[in-house]
Amino acid sequence: MSGHTIECPCGTVLRGPDEDAVVAQAQNHARAVHDMELTDEQARAMARPS
Ligand SMILES: [Zn+2]
Repeated sequence: MSGHTIECPCGTVLRGPDEDAVVAQAQNHARAVHDMELTDEQARAMARPS
């Protein structure tokens, strides 16, 4: 299975089919759950292939 994941420090694991998708999900999660703006660069640094 290919894809990317980002594990938020809160324990939520975000998954997407590629890095762009998971970066967008992480930014949405950070905004909705943590009231925080995650930059593209920050999110990409957290992305891992899965
Ligand atoms: Zn979180």
